[in-house]
Amino acid sequence: VRLEVQSAQGAYPVVVGAGVRYALPEILADLRLDDRRIAVITDEIVRETPFFAGLLAALQGVGRGLLTLQFPAGDAHKSLATAAELYHGLVRGGFRRGDVILAVGGGVVGDLAGFVAATYMRGVPYVQVPTTLLAHDSAIGGKVGVNLEEGKNLVGAFYPPRAVLFDTEALTTLDARQWRNGMAEVIKHAIIADPDLFLRLETQPMPQLADPSGFVDIAARAMRVKVDVVTQDERESGLRQVLNVGHTVGHAVEQFSGYALGHGEAVSIGLVVEAAIAANRGLLSWADAQRIASALERHGLPTRPPYADVDAVLKLVEVDKKHTHDGWVFALPAAIGRVEIVRVKPDEVRVAYEQVREGHR
Ligand code: NAD
Ligand code: ZN
Repeated sequence: VRLEVQSAQGAYPVVVGAGVRYALPEILADLRLDDRRIAVITDEIVRETPFFAGLLAALQGVGRGLLTLQFPAGDAHKSLATAAELYHGLVRGGFRRGDVILAVGGGVVGDLAGFVAATYMRGVPYVQVPTTLLAHDSAIGGKVGVNLEEGKNLVGAFYPPRAVLFDTEALTTLDARQWRNGMAEVIKHAIIADPDLFLRLETQPMPQLADPSGFVDIAARAMRVKVDVVTQDERESGLRQVLNVGHTVGHAVEQFSGYALGHGEAVSIGLVVEAAIAANRGLLSWADAQRIASALERHGLPTRPPYADVDAVLKLVEVDKKHTHDGWVFALPAAIGRVEIVRVKPDEVRVAYEQVREGHR
């Protein structure tokens, strides 16, 4: 499956399939990037996967030499310190202005390698090769960045990749929890704009991990939703906010858990609470709110906030919303397949959070 994102810096392809890593030389040639040095940036866990070995093998003889740089896995390493090490590695490897970076890994590698690409010598081309299910989302849209000690993603840029290559064969080595975390974003994309995909996710048996080709269609449809949204609003001036559905409450719960909850797990809880906010104000039917919760549950995701301290959670929402007093801007589901941007009063969040927590939804 081949999609295309329109961006101010030009359009870029998003290629999805089982085994598409073997098409990488061809894609680099199409982009006229096959006569450059190639720096593959990854983390130490992905480095050891059979997928990565296959990718390197496919790249033998392509370009003017291959350089592999890796860093320890985990969000804690998505930092300026790691970026600095990567810059040094690139300089030492003789990497120059026109050369190309391949970001091979989950969202951490994508954000960090993309940030390095955006800033090294004022910008070099890069290609995203996402290897987690969650990264079907993060690899598209050109948001790159690193964390600071004070908070996540505080430094970054909009810097679109030259291509995104999502090979579902990479997913076979994910563990069940990484899988669930990614499914939350797949379900989110269905809620935003693809009711047929949602119906599939809520009723049909899911393809097994061992058979990644069965997942191509689902991944491609979720990615199409993101492609369409970021094509229409690259810089998050309006429409792109719909992608935040589930994320306002989700981020607060994720932070409150001290990141014990995975991102997708927190987004799942956020989606259910935000669906309840929408249902309470008559924007969404309770039947659809129930469908959202059931679909998430079906994929093994949590649907109730485990924390009773709603005030602490509200405070985190408030910080996130930068203390706006005439109501917080939320992306709320209005139907399966439609999200609206609305202002929500803190009290509405409190009521919905408590309803969901107590199981009245
Ligand atoms: P991750 O990159 O840390 O990957 C999770 C774990 O899986 C890591 O330990 C990694 O080494 C391992 N892994 C990766 N691929 C694997 C594979 N094929 N087999 C086995 N293990 C594998 O995290 P993630 O969940 O992919 O992404 C989270 C990050 O994405 C966060 O930093 C978040 O801020 C960022 N993000 C960015 C955007 C964006 O628009 N840029 C959107 C959402 C999330
Ligand atoms: Zn997310």
